[in-house]
Amino acid sequence: MEQDLRTILGNMIPDGFINWLEIDLSAIENNYHELIRISQRPVMGVVKANAYGHGLERISQAVGHAGGNWLGVARFEEAYQLRKAWIETNTLVLGYTPPEWAIQAAVDKISLTVFDRKTALAYSEAAASRGMRVKVHLKVDTGMNRLGIQPQAALEFLRWLSGLPGLDVEGIFTHFADADEPVDPSVDVTVTQIRRFDEVLAGITAAGLRPKWVHASNSAGILNFPNARYDLVRAGIALYGLHPSPDTILPGSFKPALTWKTILTLVKEVPAGSGISYNYRYFTKSNERIGVIPVGYADGFRRSAKNKVLVGGTEVSVVGHVCMDQCMVLLDNVPQAMAGDEVVIIGEQGSQTRTAEQVAEVWEINNYQVVCGMADRLPRFYS
Ligand SMILES: *Cc1c(COP(=O)(O)O)cnc(C)c1O
Repeated sequence: MEQDLRTILGNMIPDGFINWLEIDLSAIENNYHELIRISQRPVMGVVKANAYGHGLERISQAVGHAGGNWLGVARFEEAYQLRKAWIETNTLVLGYTPPEWAIQAAVDKISLTVFDRKTALAYSEAAASRGMRVKVHLKVDTGMNRLGIQPQAALEFLRWLSGLPGLDVEGIFTHFADADEPVDPSVDVTVTQIRRFDEVLAGITAAGLRPKWVHASNSAGILNFPNARYDLVRAGIALYGLHPSPDTILPGSFKPALTWKTILTLVKEVPAGSGISYNYRYFTKSNERIGVIPVGYADGFRRSAKNKVLVGGTEVSVVGHVCMDQCMVLLDNVPQAMAGDEVVIIGEQGSQTRTAEQVAEVWEINNYQVVCGMADRLPRFYS
């Protein structure tokens, strides 16, 4: 359900839609250029999870348009979807790929992450049986304690990997566990991770085994650790113009790309003492103007007693439980509001702004979870 924003004139509502996302691709390109400017390195656009909810194909095209040569995804099928859409940019699957996909990876020139011998050997045998090679990046676990081989095993593993006939070792990388938190150099987790990674790199370089692409930094790492940029950096959250964490704020030159809008489908007066929505978690205090908006938890809009949205350029409260597809808002401070009016969940309206970070705070989660939680059923409009 992708449609060009050209069909939406100014503030008008796209015909027939009642709950939708508007994605500003020029913001994505701007943020990509900012990441290049700051890092002075090639930037891998991390587009896993439907590009953090922004839409895999259109965001990947925007990264290409901005000059990007690398995309990062979490699963093989995400990379495969890119190839099906004729997006041929170098693509690295950052997570585990079952050997069943090895031949397809070789055919589509999709780079895979390796971290154990059994899987690496299976990739090699599958590709070699067709006279092909799979491109791989070796993942080193310097302290995230998720995927990756232990640093002390890296040199020997890489030597073995490089000898496999069906593989082309093009990269080595690690991932930071804590690059978004304030730095205390004496105990800092990231400082330790960088030191371990540098030790691995010294060893493999001395052995003449250093692959072409060495990479480590995520968005927070790019901003906080200039000594960890190596040959390539991997940016997800910053590409979308969202802050890596409350401690790691983007420079003002970044722009959020996403706006989430809906409309008032009904406005009515409800007498004092009326219970609103399931389980009556809110009672009207007087004769109150209540609006209905077609946004619910099935869209990724979570239950909280503190939800706010923008109506008529004013912040209003969501009252009562959020239902699956709808919820109610209190409109007493926007007397002019009427059915059909635009409502902003994330984005700007008049002089007011609601950020993904504010929504995250209300839901007691982080901004990554807010945007990744936006449902597939929300139509996405691009400009
Ligand atoms: C998701 C991910 C990234 C991007 O992280 P951001 O914090 O969104 O920049 C980079 N590298 C790996 C391995 C990832 O899984």
